[in-house]
Amino acid sequence: MRIDRARLPGFAAAGIDRCDQVRSDPEALAAAFADPQARRMRLDGLDPMTDGPELVREPIPAGARAADHVLLGKEADGSPLFVELRSGIPHGGAFAPRVWEAATELDARELALYGGARSLVDWHARHGFCAVCGGATMPAKGGWSRRCGGCGAEHFPRVDPVVIMLAEYQGRVLVGRQTRFPPRRYSALAGFIEPGETIEGAVARELYEEAGIEVTDIGYVMSQPWPFPSSLMIACTAQARDDRLTLDLTELEDAFWVDAAGVRAALDGEEDAPFKAPPTMAVARHLLLHWVERQG
Ligand SMILES: [Zn+2]
Repeated sequence: MRIDRARLPGFAAAGIDRCDQVRSDPEALAAAFADPQARRMRLDGLDPMTDGPELVREPIPAGARAADHVLLGKEADGSPLFVELRSGIPHGGAFAPRVWEAATELDARELALYGGARSLVDWHARHGFCAVCGGATMPAKGGWSRRCGGCGAEHFPRVDPVVIMLAEYQGRVLVGRQTRFPPRRYSALAGFIEPGETIEGAVARELYEEAGIEVTDIGYVMSQPWPFPSSLMIACTAQARDDRLTLDLTELEDAFWVDAAGVRAALDGEEDAPFKAPPTMAVARHLLLHWVERQG
């Protein structure tokens, strides 16, 4: 079954058995790597390699070592899927043009599988040394952690939570733009969650810092992995107490309140829409859709 990508942001479709029990069982992991049906995902550096709607997979080459691979999981037909770890690849913290192209070609589940692999390969390439003692670290648990050879500390791949939110006031929502956005593009406001903070706390703080508005009734809508390098976008809505804006111009170039008709026109790509909506891949677009479908 293909997933209707119009209903899901990019990287968000789950589709593989992650088989956590195999990762931490050395015998089962070795058996999975030696399975004649085992494949590994080919990457070009950190970028995807595609064959139509699918990622390119190849048999595990003779002489390859399980310790140099991450077990991504087992596919629908039971065959194990790995990705090779590489050193010396460029850090993929920024959104890559090749991924943008691939996102329009790939099946939604394949794109999600790629996103996870990208985050993991990137994390391993940048975590060769222990943050506790400076000793060399080695992949462990099928590539889902690294263990320090010096002090024994175990380090896990990180996920960085980001809140992205639409504040609403009397039938209008707040959209903003950063200087780096394409012309006329506006989106939902966003920011990283800080240590010690709840999702709700981060939504309220970011809206206050960036736009000077106070909000209540914060609600969760959906989430999206964003592998540049390892964010988790947490999409929310909130009710503003009033519509007076005080913009932080170091964060936002502009922001304005837009009604449902304006949001619909933007989502439909109309020429005279008040702004240009984010692309299908972005959770912000799905957040706008979620809101507008609930308006009269
Ligand atoms: Zn250490």
